Amino acid sequence: MNHRKVILFSAPSGSGKTTIIREILKRFDCFEFAISATSRQPRAGEEDGKDYYFLTPEAFEQRVQANDFLEWEEVYAGTRYGTLKSEINRIWDNGHVIIFDVDVKGGMNLKQYFGSDALAIFVMPPSVEVLERRLRTRGTECEEAILKRLARSTKELEMADKFDVTIINDILADAVDETQKVINIYLSI
Ligand code: ADP
Ligand code: 5GP
Repeated sequence: MNHRKVILFSAPSGSGKTTIIREILKRFDCFEFAISATSRQPRAGEEDGKDYYFLTPEAFEQRVQANDFLEWEEVYAGTRYGTLKSEINRIWDNGHVIIFDVDVKGGMNLKQYFGSDALAIFVMPPSVEVLERRLRTRGTECEEAILKRLARSTKELEMADKFDVTIINDILADAVDETQKVINIYLSI
């Protein structure tokens, strides 16, 4: 198999991409998650070097100046997220396929960069109401942050057709099965 492949997941926050990625990582042993850097604070249970590389805003800026990022976005005002070039080499050197969890704009940029080496998956919530409910139920953001995420989602949902595949995440088990199917097809090409 050609290991220099990447699978990228994008979606509005709360659509369920982290949940789907966790399930997919259990089903394949050739994948490795690309750990992004972020300037936001860790949530309860999140670990530095596992979920993200948590950087101070100053340290993030230094890495931007050092040209260490393949891409980065200020996804929410004052909070930056980015893909470190070193992650790509680390994972490919391990002989693994890269899994990305990035915002919609970042996903489009990475798709452009990797071209046909990338399978770009858009995770679609069944409705905006369900998206809002999931964000609230997750309970990891304050009201202000939830509203920022919802405000951004309308524009992001319009970008779905720029991706190779859209997975509707209504019933989780079905969404994971469907994702597994499209990944198997992509890996077999
Ligand atoms: P994202 O990574 O896209 O921001 P998460 O994976 O964190 O989204 O999911 C947001 C919330 O919705 C989490 O609390 C998660 O447990 C829940 N969730 C994800 N998928 C489903 C689903 N199909 N049905 C119900 N709840 C879901
Ligand atoms: P969260 O704060 O919920 O973990 O992530 C917020 C958003 O930032 C999500 O849409 C997530 O996909 C995105 N994100 C995480 N890492 C990166 C990255 O490296 N680059 C970009 N552009 N977005 C990212």
